[in-house]
Amino acid sequence: TLPIVAVIGRPNVGKSTLVNRLAKNRQAIVHDEPGITRDRVYRQAFWRTHDFLVVDTGGLVFNDNTEFLPLIREQAMTALSEASVAVFVVDGQLGPTTGDYEIGNWLRQQKVPVLLAVNKCESPEHGLIQAAQFWELGLGEPYPISGIHGNGTGEFLDKLILHL
Ligand code: GDP
Ligand code: MG
Repeated sequence: TLPIVAVIGRPNVGKSTLVNRLAKNRQAIVHDEPGITRDRVYRQAFWRTHDFLVVDTGGLVFNDNTEFLPLIREQAMTALSEASVAVFVVDGQLGPTTGDYEIGNWLRQQKVPVLLAVNKCESPEHGLIQAAQFWELGLGEPYPISGIHGNGTGEFLDKLILHL
C-alpha cells in the first residue's frame, strides 16, 4: 500500500488545482467506505523515486454547520487520519485568514506532520513575501507555490517526500 498525502484547506485556495498537477496523467482510485456518503478519491502520484496517493478534500470550514459542511469536515478528518503527511494549502494572494487559523489550530492537534503550501505565488517579485506572512500560523516554513503554473512545486515535493 502506498503512503497517503491529504490535501486540506479552505474553499477556493487551489487544493484541486494542486492535486491535478501532482497527479497528472494518473488514474483515480475510488474508495468506498461504509458510513461515509461520498467516497474519497485517491489519485496516484510520484516524485523522484517515491510513489504515493493524493487525496483531495472539500473546502474546510469550522464554526459553521450549514448544509454539507459538517460532512466535509468529517471527510477531511478521515483523510487526515490515514495520511502520512498533510498538505495545508492557503491563498498567498489573500494572506492568512481567520479560517486558516482555525484549520491550523486543528491541524496542530493532530498527529500527522503538516507542510504549509502557500498557493497562488506565481509572482517572482512577491512570492517570498506572500509566503512569509504565513509564518504566523505557527506551522513551520511556508512554501510558496503555484498550482496553476508550477512555480515552487519541485522544491515543495522535495520536502514532502521526506515524510513518506
Ligand atoms: P479548491 O476549492 O481549494 O479546490 O480550489 P480550486 O483548485 O478549485 O481553485 C480555486 C480558484 O483558485 C480557481 O479559480 C483557480 O483557477 C484558482 N487557482 C488555483 N490555483 C491557483 C494558482 O496557483 N494561482 C492562481 N492565481 N490562481 C489559482
Ligand atoms: Mg476543490
